[in-house]
Amino acid sequence: MITSIATLSACHVQEEKPASSPDTFNYNVEEFADIGILRYQVEGFESLPLQQKKMIYYLSQAAVAGRDIFFDQNGKWNLAIRRTLEAIYEHYNGDRNSESFQALEQYLKQVWFASGIHHHYSMDKFKPGFSAPFFAEAVQSIDSSLLPLKVGESKEELIEKLTPVIFDPTVDAKRVNQAAGEDLILTSACNYYDGVTQQEAETFYNNLKDLNDQTPVSYGLNSRLVKKDGKIEELVWKTDGLYGEALTEVVYWLEKALSVAENDAQRAYIEKLIEFNRTGDLKTFDQYAILWVKDTISDIDFVNGFTESYGDPLGMKASWESVVNFKNKEASKRTETISENAQWFEDHSPVDSRFKKETVKGVSAKVITAAMLGGDCYPATPIGINLPNSNWIRRDHGSKSVTIENITKAYDMASLGNGFNEEFVWSDTERELLKKYGFTSDNMHTDLHECLGHGSGKLLPGVDPDALKAYGSTLEEARADLFALYYIADPKLVELGLLPDQDAYKAEYYRYIMNGLMTQLTRIEPGKSVEESHMRNRQLIAKWLFEKGEPEKVIELKKRDGKSFVVINHYDKMRTLVGQLLAEIQRIKSEGDYEAGKNLVETYGVRVDTNLHKEVLDRYAHLQIKPYKGFVNPVYTPVTDDKGEITDILISYDEGYAQQMLRYSKEFNALPTYNN
Ligand code: ZN
Repeated sequence: MITSIATLSACHVQEEKPASSPDTFNYNVEEFADIGILRYQVEGFESLPLQQKKMIYYLSQAAVAGRDIFFDQNGKWNLAIRRTLEAIYEHYNGDRNSESFQALEQYLKQVWFASGIHHHYSMDKFKPGFSAPFFAEAVQSIDSSLLPLKVGESKEELIEKLTPVIFDPTVDAKRVNQAAGEDLILTSACNYYDGVTQQEAETFYNNLKDLNDQTPVSYGLNSRLVKKDGKIEELVWKTDGLYGEALTEVVYWLEKALSVAENDAQRAYIEKLIEFNRTGDLKTFDQYAILWVKDTISDIDFVNGFTESYGDPLGMKASWESVVNFKNKEASKRTETISENAQWFEDHSPVDSRFKKETVKGVSAKVITAAMLGGDCYPATPIGINLPNSNWIRRDHGSKSVTIENITKAYDMASLGNGFNEEFVWSDTERELLKKYGFTSDNMHTDLHECLGHGSGKLLPGVDPDALKAYGSTLEEARADLFALYYIADPKLVELGLLPDQDAYKAEYYRYIMNGLMTQLTRIEPGKSVEESHMRNRQLIAKWLFEKGEPEKVIELKKRDGKSFVVINHYDKMRTLVGQLLAEIQRIKSEGDYEAGKNLVETYGVRVDTNLHKEVLDRYAHLQIKPYKGFVNPVYTPVTDDKGEITDILISYDEGYAQQMLRYSKEFNALPTYNN
C-alpha cells in the first residue's frame, strides 16, 4: 500500500541549518500547469561499496524498463499519444514560440507526469490548450518514420484516431471512475478490462474465489480481463505474454542485479521475482512476497512489478511500479523502536479485542533513502510504503514498512518560505508548534501509519478481504491514519524517546485537521468532489472529528477578515474521538460491514463545501504554489576500465525534466505502441 503521500501543506518549516553544513542542493527543477518538479538527493550513495553501487545501478535500469507498461495500463491510447507528441516536440520545424506549440509542450509535460492523458490525482482527462487543427498540422509536418504508425497506417489515419481521444471531453473522460451506481469498468478509461462489464468481471472473479481458502492468491493482479468471441479470459502480463517485451528487459536487469546481490536471502527473492515475471503464476508471486518480507537484513531493497491496485476501479489489478532504495541506518533506529514495541501498541489500542492480533508478526520498519523511482512511483511518489498487500501474507509473515526520508526532506526544503503557513494557520501559537515539531511529528505520523497502522488488527474468520469493495482503500488508509493519530498523542512515545515532549503531537493534530478540512481542497477543481482514496480518508477523519466534537467545540472553523481557519480547542478530547473512530473503522474492516463503510465514506469523505472550497482556492491561488509535486531521478553512469569492467558508478543531478523523459522514452522503448 502507498501509505503516505505528501499533503503538500508545507507546514513543517525546517529548523535553521547549522552554518557548517550549507545545503546548496538545488531542489526545485521547474513548474508547469499545476505541477512543480523537484529533485531529491541520494545522500550516502557515493560512499557505498562498489558492489552495492552496481546493484543500485542495475535495479535503477530495471525500474525504468517497465515505464511504458504503466502508460499502457492507464489507457490504451497513451503510448500512441505520447510517442506522437514526442516526435512533434523533437522535430517540429514551425514556430516553437507560438502559443499553440507552447500549449502542446505543456500538455506533453502533463502526459509524461501522469503517465497518460488523465491527471494522476483527479483522474480527469487533461484539456489541451492547443486545437485539433494545430495538432493535425503538426503531425503532418513530421516525417512518417518518426511517428508511431502501424504498418500501412497513414498520418491522416493516426490523426483521425487520436483526435477524439485528446480533444473530445466525453471520450475516455476519466481514468478511474469511483462514482457509486455507475458501471465502474465501462466508465473508466484505464486499460485493465476490455469488452467486459463490471458485473461480468465481478462474477468472473467471484467464481475463482474460494472463501474457505486461508491463503488465496491475489486474483486478477497481473492480467487484463477481456472478452473474446463471447468468452471472458485473462491476458496475463509475463515475459511471453502481454507486456512481454518490456518485462523481458526488466528480467535482464534483474538478473544483472542478482549477480551482485548482498546475500542469499536477497538472491532468493530476486530469483522468485524473475520466475514470476516469466510465468505470471500468482502462487509464485506470493512465494516471492514471503521471501521479500523475510529479508530484513539487506541494505539495499526494492520493489519492481505489479504492486498497487488504486488504478483499477475494482481494486484488483496492479499497476507497474518500482522504488530502489537503501537503508538510512541512523534514522531507522526510530522505526526499530516502534517495531520492537508493536505488540504493546496492538494490545493497548482502543479497538474491540476480537479484532486485535494476538501476536503481531514481524512488523519491520525502516527509514530509507530512495535511489530511483519508476512506473507508478514516478515522477509523483509516495513518502511511505507498506508491503506486501496480500492480507494473509501480512497475517502470517508480517509486512515491511518504509518511510522515504530523502523525499520528505526534498518536499520540506522546496517549500521553505512559500507563505502557506502565514495564510492558512490560525495564529502564531500554531505556527510555532509547526515550526518546532512539524517535521518530527509529520515523520512520526508516517512511521506509525506504516509500521503499525496497516499491520494492526485482523479480519474475523470467513470475512472476504474485498468485502468493502470500492470503499476498501479509503477505509484502510483511514484505519492506518487513525492508528497513527491515536498513538502519536500517547505518552508512550515520549517515554520511548520518539518525541521530545507531550506537545509535539499537537503539531500533527493541527496539520492533519487543517489539511483534511480545508487545505487539501486546493487539489480539487471547482465543482468536483473528493475522489482519491487518501484524500477521501483525510476528509472523512477530519469532518467526522469536527462533527462529533461540535457540542464541546473540540475543533472550530473560525472566521477572521472573511477567511476561515481551523482552531483546535481541546487536543485531548480530539484524541478520544480519534480512538472512537478507529474502533468503528476497525470493526467495519474486521466484519466486512460494507454498508457502514459506504455510509461513512459517502457522508464524510466525498462531498465538498462549495463556499469553503472557493475561498481556499482563491487564497491558495495568491500564493502561487503548485499543488502537485513530482521528482526527476538522478542519473547513474557506470565507469568502466579497458576490459569493460565496471569500476565505479557516478551519480549526477543535472538532468532536466523533459531531457529525462525523452531519454527514458528512447532507451526503454521495447513495448509496442498498441498492446492487445
Ligand atoms: Zn497507508
